[in-house]
Amino acid sequence: MKSITKILLLGPPACGKGTQARRLSELLNLPVLGTGNLLRQAVADQSELGKKAEGFISQGLYVPDSLIESLVLEWASAQKNGWIFDGFPRTQAQAQFMLTNDSIGKPDLVIGLRVGKEELEKRVNSRRQCTQCDIVTSTFVHPEENCPDVKCKGYLYARNDDALESFKVRHTQYLEHTEPLFDYFDNQGILAEIYGEGPPEKVWKKVEKLVD
Ligand code: ADP
Repeated sequence: MKSITKILLLGPPACGKGTQARRLSELLNLPVLGTGNLLRQAVADQSELGKKAEGFISQGLYVPDSLIESLVLEWASAQKNGWIFDGFPRTQAQAQFMLTNDSIGKPDLVIGLRVGKEELEKRVNSRRQCTQCDIVTSTFVHPEENCPDVKCKGYLYARNDDALESFKVRHTQYLEHTEPLFDYFDNQGILAEIYGEGPPEKVWKKVEKLVD
């Protein structure tokens, strides 16, 4: 059987894509591209890309396809053994870009996480991310300000776009542009849907089974 080396995580904002991507990365020794993290870093660095993306991100809007596509192409072209995508593609145009570019290619597996809006709202409210290593946790699990990774010197912050108003815009964008990709990848026979509510460990058990 062909081994799984290209995995895509699909799902609404705060559904746990990043958390499951990290675990998959450790298990399969594959690099993760988190487009949201890369964009936030570009904004912090005030690079050309960051300046262009900043306004969209802070409002909860998707950045234009052209900005994200060149970023992904450059990153994926440098990966020789496969990858995990967390946050790309988010639109049908991005999905087509991925499939028609040989340097990126078709994923072996698309993991679609389903989480209801009410649960997502609870999660964004308590979500905290590390300034240094981008690890994501919640105030319920880790109420302190320091990063839960003792080796890391970063501290935890709440993302601007996790404010409720911004989250609502992101969720609407998701329903309009990204949710249709569940059908798109299902039609290609590569989608595995997972119910993503419940603790990360429980969701991980299901994700792990898919790649075992
Ligand atoms: P989440 O999964 O919690 O919504 P991310 O960190 O993946 O958050 O993304 C944060 C923001 O970065 C998005 O709301 C959007 O503005 C931008 N972004 C990330 N990936 C893409 C993409 N593939 N296309 C367009 N915008 C993107």
